[in-house]
Amino acid sequence: MFISLDGIDGAGKSTQIDLLRKHLEAKGATVVCFRDPGSTKLGEAVREILLHREDIPLANTSEMLLYMAARAQLVAEQLRPALESGATVICDRFLLANVVYQGVAGGLSIDDLWSVGKCATGGLSPDATIVLDLDPELAFKRIQRGPDRLEKRGLDYFRTVRQGFLEQVANTGGKSTIVDASQDIERIHLQIVDFVDRIRGG
Ligand code: ADP
Ligand code: MG
Repeated sequence: MFISLDGIDGAGKSTQIDLLRKHLEAKGATVVCFRDPGSTKLGEAVREILLHREDIPLANTSEMLLYMAARAQLVAEQLRPALESGATVICDRFLLANVVYQGVAGGLSIDDLWSVGKCATGGLSPDATIVLDLDPELAFKRIQRGPDRLEKRGLDYFRTVRQGFLEQVANTGGKSTIVDASQDIERIHLQIVDFVDRIRGG
């Protein structure tokens, strides 16, 4: 099973992935976690450029294709083999984030994003996508570190991103749910577990 968690930074993805991993492992599953972009040598190098190398100018389309390249490598090198070995995969972000940030909020064609995405992933999509929905102002308050390249884009951009997640999550190909991420950590976890266990159960 392939599970993806998404939502703006500060929404609680890392926190919830950690809890979900423990829950699934306690049930006997072998769980492998990845982050997109990242989790391969190429992906981590691309991630560094995308998030931190502000000395490298990036046009919208090249930025989008770098995300796609990182994802293509993740699928080929790690994700598909993990699924084939029978592991449950949890991915911190996936194609949906690219559609939302570079398409809905970034102005690129949303149809192009989904179709280039299909090429990059070889058609692999999550069985389950969980969007953690949170007011960007609240999310910013949760983040302690300084803003990365994306976070410098400001609140209006993130309000559009938030809307984008709500609108596009139904197009991921698998089952999806939106969870109110302003709730406490344990409550969110229980809602995620309920959703995932229902899909695992058939
Ligand atoms: P993300 O991975 O989506 O950026 P994190 O899981 O790193 O988010 O959470 C960002 C910060 O907010 C962390 O300090 C985390 O402890 C805190 N946090 C996560 N979930 C909640 C929550 N439901 N309520 C309050 N704080 C939270
Ligand atoms: Mg995180």
